[in-house]
Amino acid sequence: MKQKVLVVEDEQTLVETLAYNLNRQGYDVETAQDGLKALELARSYRPDLIILDLMLPGLDGFEVCRILRQETSVPILMLTARAEEVDKIVGLEVGADDYMTKPFSMRELMARVKALLRRERLIREEIAAQEPAAAPKLMVFGDLVIDENRREVRRNGQIVPLKPKEYELLLFLARQKGIVLSRTLILERVWGWDFEGGSRTVDVHVRWLREKIEPNPAEPVRIVTVRGVGYRFDG
Ligand code: CA
Repeated sequence: MKQKVLVVEDEQTLVETLAYNLNRQGYDVETAQDGLKALELARSYRPDLIILDLMLPGLDGFEVCRILRQETSVPILMLTARAEEVDKIVGLEVGADDYMTKPFSMRELMARVKALLRRERLIREEIAAQEPAAAPKLMVFGDLVIDENRREVRRNGQIVPLKPKEYELLLFLARQKGIVLSRTLILERVWGWDFEGGSRTVDVHVRWLREKIEPNPAEPVRIVTVRGVGYRFDG
């Protein structure tokens, strides 16, 4: 997708030259010749970068920049005709990202545009990288919550202290909710093929789990024994 540049400048020939050169560089371009139109287009066109001349009819570039900064962090490259205005751009901290004084070389301007867009993209990527990779994975069974992201089990909001194998067993059972699982299968999936202990291990861990998550461990309703086969998690 093409990156979008909004050019705000009231000198017709300069607008045309800028638009022509930006198009040639592969950018999509919209133009505005006064401050109000600039604000309107900034909101509707949603440019990736704005080239904003300081001297404009109506709202001037300072005002446009100040208003835009309250709404967006889009990179703004300011154009100014007079060197003394540079002090204003810098001193007033209107929020422009860069500026150029007229007359400028088109080549230099294109380089600045490219650099600003690149910087903006890197910032976005950095922010994206800091966001959590996935939405929280939660399994909820009444008052019991299995929080896979935090490897945590909570009951009525309180953390249930589980040993690693108890957690893995509960997770495995909960993922196959409603399905009867044999001791052998549970052993194989939770403890692995090379586990030395027998299927009694499963029974022992189920008993421990029941103590922690069943309303009444003597009459389990969450991890149910299926006679002659194994266990079933009912939620
Ligand atoms: Ca102007």
